Amino acid sequence: MNRMKLEILSRSENEVFVRNVVAAFALPLGPTLSELSDVKTAVSEAVTNCIVHGYGGGEGLITVVCEAEGDTLKVTVSDSGRGIEDVEQALAPFFTTQPGEERSGMGFTIMQTFMTTFSVSSAPGKGTTVTMSKQFGARADTDAR
Ligand code: ATP
Ligand code: MG
Repeated sequence: MNRMKLEILSRSENEVFVRNVVAAFALPLGPTLSELSDVKTAVSEAVTNCIVHGYGGGEGLITVVCEAEGDTLKVTVSDSGRGIEDVEQALAPFFTTQPGEERSGMGFTIMQTFMTTFSVSSAPGKGTTVTMSKQFGARADTDAR
């Protein structure tokens, strides 16, 4: 088992930093480029949500915890921001509370699609935690090699 914890400010430039840190942590597990790219995309979406929705562009802390166990990477991305009133609704494809040119409401759907497991826990006014894992060498990804 390997583990790391990262706490970082909710600044937009940190999205790239976090996804690369998670990718670097995952490397010893021997992911394919495609698996690594899936993880980076999912982590980016989670971190962007903390910045944009959790803290509404304001300042706050994002906590990222990674665990490597066997062939599986587990990642949690948390904020202590606004929280989500109705998680089930938020998970629906194309649902967004910020319609406009930038947001398409696909972030959670992307995380769900690109990772092996995915869940969200949230409390209004307290914050949101996304927990996801990726099993490397799983059949769906192996077939695509
Ligand atoms: P996109 O990700 O396509 O740019 P989006 O961020 O609106 O658009 P999702 O990432 O699927 O879409 O999130 C759906 C909705 O869930 C958001 O519009 C927002 O209301 C809520 N949400 C997601 N993450 C958080 C968070 N960390 N804190 C508060 N609300 C969140
Ligand atoms: Mg999003």
